[in-house]
Amino acid sequence: GSLLVAEGLRKAYGPTVALDGAEFSIHPGEVVAVMGPSGSGKSTLLHCLAGIVTPDAGTILYDGRDLARMNDAQRSALRRSEFGFVFQFGQLVPELTCVENVALPLRLNGTPRKKAEQTALEWMRRLEVHDLAGKRPGEVSGGQGQRVAVARALVTGPRVLFADEPTGALDSLNGERVMELLTESARSSGTAVVLVTHEARVAAYSDREIVVRDGKSRDMERIV
Ligand code: ADP
Ligand code: ADP
Repeated sequence: GSLLVAEGLRKAYGPTVALDGAEFSIHPGEVVAVMGPSGSGKSTLLHCLAGIVTPDAGTILYDGRDLARMNDAQRSALRRSEFGFVFQFGQLVPELTCVENVALPLRLNGTPRKKAEQTALEWMRRLEVHDLAGKRPGEVSGGQGQRVAVARALVTGPRVLFADEPTGALDSLNGERVMELLTESARSSGTAVVLVTHEARVAAYSDREIVVRDGKSRDMERIV
């Protein structure tokens, strides 16, 4: 069955209709690209699926549980324990070293420092950034920083990784390296990926594409 399913999602910001009947589904371990032009509602869809934004109408089921029936504490517990997030840029804490950044979600869950940093280093090795453990985010390149951010998003073993334009600030070579390692790592750990992008060559790393236009989404597999 599906891990995350949404139907009939509507969301308006005043007069602006961001989502107008969008639907979505993802199976465990699947990599799904959410595509569409700027302003079509991709980020809003991702924020609804992740329980960050509450839709005006529609249903979202995670593992059979209705997000709308959870309270804020339950939704935030879900985000902390089951979801990981990667954004375009600016997500690492500049005062912490790279390994401290990757270890942070584990530290916040109460894992002792030594154990947290050991697990963090294992993930950094998979993302090929373990050499950067002692550096601060300001001392690494954009592509390296995004790989550190991916390691941090995966360090807790989430069932879903939400990635919103994770290569948006990178040149194509670095972007491809990030996508290769992101999808490889997610696949090897059975983590499903919801990948928001407007670039076809980034979406090429997915198993399936969903296209959003004017707040309506269509599963390309059902069309072709
Ligand atoms: P995309 O990610 O495809 O660029 P978004 O989901 O960010 O699209 O935005 C869809 C529409 O909703 C746009 O017109 C955007 O300006 C608007 N929008 C998104 N978030 C907000 C918000 N918090 N307040 C007001 N308008 C918003
Ligand atoms: P992205 O680059 O991923 O589409 P944005 O820069 O559009 O993200 O949006 C960043 C944040 O601002 C998001 O939380 C989004 O919901 C919000 N946002 C987007 N458009 C608007 C808007 N027109 N007014 C207010 N907030 C917005």
